[in-house]
Amino acid sequence: MRVNLLDLDAQALTDWLAGHGEKPYRARQLLRWVHRLGQNDFAAMTDIARTLRENLGATATIAAPPVISDRLSEDGTRKFLFDVGGGNAVEAVFIPEDDRGTLCVSTQAGCALACSFCSTGRQGFNRNLGVAEIVGQLWQVRRALSGPFQADSPAERLISNVVLMGMGEPLANLDNVLAALRLLLDDHAYGLSRRRVTVSTAGLVPAIDRLRDECPVALAVSLHAPDDQLRDQLVPINRKYPLRVLLEACRRYLERAPRDYVTFEYVMLDGINDSLAQAHELLALTRQVPCKFNLIPFNPFPGSAYRRSSALRIRRFADVLLEAGVVTTTRKTRGDDIDAACGQLAGRVLDRSRRTTRLHLARGPDRQEAFR
Ligand code: SAH
Repeated sequence: MRVNLLDLDAQALTDWLAGHGEKPYRARQLLRWVHRLGQNDFAAMTDIARTLRENLGATATIAAPPVISDRLSEDGTRKFLFDVGGGNAVEAVFIPEDDRGTLCVSTQAGCALACSFCSTGRQGFNRNLGVAEIVGQLWQVRRALSGPFQADSPAERLISNVVLMGMGEPLANLDNVLAALRLLLDDHAYGLSRRRVTVSTAGLVPAIDRLRDECPVALAVSLHAPDDQLRDQLVPINRKYPLRVLLEACRRYLERAPRDYVTFEYVMLDGINDSLAQAHELLALTRQVPCKFNLIPFNPFPGSAYRRSSALRIRRFADVLLEAGVVTTTRKTRGDDIDAACGQLAGRVLDRSRRTTRLHLARGPDRQEAFR
C-alpha cells in the first residue's frame, strides 16, 4: 500500500525517507511542496531529484478527502463537505473576517460524547479521522480558496487561524490530532502561530494534560453550565470529569499554554443556563482560572429540544461577567443560511454506536440529502 504523505508529520516523513536512503532535508522540501504549495503531483516538484520523484510516484500518494460540496453563505462563510469513505462525510467551515480568516475543521466522523444540544452529538459516532483527513481539510480549502499555490503568494495568508471545533471531540482522537497540530505549526508546512490554533474540548481531562505536555496551543473549553447537576445533563462527559477536576486541568494547562487564558465557551439555552443567578455562579466557579468567555447563541437543528436565549437575555448575562472584569464576547452567528453555524455541522455519519438509531429515523434524511 502507498503511504499518504498527508498522514506524516515532519518526524514521520523524515523517518520514512530515511528508510529509502534519503536525507532529512528532503523531508523539508517535500513538506513545502505538499502543504505550503498544495502540490499533489510529484512530477511538478522540480527541485527534487528525478529518481526520487519517480520513487515517490511508485510508493507514495498525496490524498486529501474529496470535496462533495462547497456552499457559500450570504455573509461570506463557506462550508465544505468532505467524503471520508464508508458512507461518512464531515464538514469544515471557512469564516473570513477583516483581519483574519478562520477555518473550523472536524476531527471525527460523528461524536461519542452526546452533548444534548449538539447536532453532531445526536448523530452518534462512527470513527476517528486520520491525520490526512484532518490536515486534508485545510489542504483542500486552501486550494479551493485560491487554486494551487504560487510560492509565498498572499493566498497562503487567507487562512490565518485554525480551530478544531467542527464535528467530533478532538481530544478523543488525540494521537492523530497531535500529528495534525504539528503539521499546522511546522514552518515548512502551514507555519501557523500556536496562538492562532485552537483546540476546543468538552473536557477530557487526561487528554488536556497530554496536549499541554506534547503540543500546547490555544485552548477552548465547552463549559455550558455553572454547576455539575446541570452540566451532567448538557455535557454527559461531566459525570466522569466534573467541574472541579476540569477547572484544575485548565489551571495546569495555562502553565504551558501560548496564551495566558482559557476560553470558556457557553451555549446560551433559553431558560436552561442563561439566568443572572447562573452568571454569578459562573463567576464564582471560574474565579481561580484566568479566562475569557465566549457566549454562543444556541443554533437550532431539526429535532433539537432547546431554544436560543433572546438577545436581551444574552446581553444581560454578558454584562454580569463584564462588570466583574471578565472579557466576554458573544459569537456572531454566521452561515445560518447554509447550516454552517456552531453545533449545526451534521455531515453524514453512519452511526456505529447505535445509540441514536431512533433519532435518525425520526429526523429523516432531509439534511443529509441536501448535500448530495
Ligand atoms: N467537541 C468539542 C468541539 C466541537 S463543538 C467541544 O465540545 O468543544 C464546538 C462548540 O460548539 C462547542 O462549544 C459546542 O458545545 C458548541 N455547540 C454545539 N452544539 C451547538 C449548538 N447547537 N448551538 C451552539 N453551539 C453549539
